[in-house]
Amino acid sequence: MTTKRCFSFEFFPPRTPEGEEKLRGVWRELNALGPEFFSVTFGAGGSTREGTLATVQAISADGLVAAPHLSCVGASIDGIRELLATYRNMGIRRLVLLRGDLPSGAGLASAGPLRYASDLVRLVREESGDWFHIDVAAYPEFHPQARTPADDLEAFAAKVRAGANSAITQFFFSPDAYLRFVEDARKLHVTVPIVPGIMPINNYMQLRSFTEKSAIDMPRWIEERLRGFGDDSASIRAFGLDVVTRLCERLLAEGAPGLHFYTLNQALASAEIWRRLDLSARGEKVSLAPINKQARVF
Ligand SMILES: Cc1cc2nc3c(=O)[nH]c(=O)nc-3n(C[C@H](O)[C@H](O)[C@H](O)COP(=O)(O)OP(=O)(O)OC[C@H]3O[C@@H](n4cnc5c(N)ncnc54)[C@H](O)[C@@H]3O)c2cc1C
Repeated sequence: MTTKRCFSFEFFPPRTPEGEEKLRGVWRELNALGPEFFSVTFGAGGSTREGTLATVQAISADGLVAAPHLSCVGASIDGIRELLATYRNMGIRRLVLLRGDLPSGAGLASAGPLRYASDLVRLVREESGDWFHIDVAAYPEFHPQARTPADDLEAFAAKVRAGANSAITQFFFSPDAYLRFVEDARKLHVTVPIVPGIMPINNYMQLRSFTEKSAIDMPRWIEERLRGFGDDSASIRAFGLDVVTRLCERLLAEGAPGLHFYTLNQALASAEIWRRLDLSARGEKVSLAPINKQARVF
């Protein structure tokens, strides 16, 4: 029996009415591709609680499947219970559960009663039984605060044992890191789908800041080429589409159970990668040529 692969898109709550309007257009465009769900991030400590809720409500009101993220660090148990009840009443069936990060400078004392994502998964299962499909985070290149890779794998397995149904990974550019992570997780009897998180490349400085903040390895050949394009954003985008499409093709060919796109609230790059992959899935020739004739890919 083959399991259906799961494709999804991630948004963050917009901060302005214009951003909200633009995002509505983005999810409508991406919905035409037939994803399983749209997830919406949550600021740690509840900093975007209302924004997450409003975005989830707007996606649901459009008749689409929304999956709110929910983080536990700095949160109270009562606050989490309240939010779970709200989502349940709205008919939400899927959550992405995370620990989140404390604001820099905040002491451990402000972490609250739930220290790790596994505590949150346990609480949600106790509160809501099997109502929610629960996704958790996985780190093919390991979480930057993990003591050792083995500890991090064990922490991941603990989230699944606590009741997670599937996982979404941090983004990465090395398919081998993902494949090895999945292999090692299977050795710990983790059988749930581990869906690769995919970050389209649009902007070199932005990507560099993300990779530095999250301790992601940006391969030198990618970094040097992106740097070499300077201000030539068309070439950066074309090269990025090429690299990320090939990464996705390899992951799917190796059996990845789907893809989760970090859209950064933009449709273009994720949709273009998706279209290229769709062509490949139907056995047609995939064109990896740059979309802009002016763009250089080397
Ligand atoms: C797909 C995805 C979506 C995300 N969405 C959001 C979001 O919406 N909002 C947000 O604020 N952040 C988000 N993040 C970031 C995430 O909150 C941070 O990476 C955070 O630092 C860790 O969250 P976690 O759920 O992986 O934590 P955990 O799984 O709790 O792990 C955190 C660290 O603690 C260690 N650890 C876990 N359990 C134990 C234990 N029992 N004893 C000792 N060490 C332990 C782990 O090895 C790891 O180093 C997302 C990340 C991913 C990959």
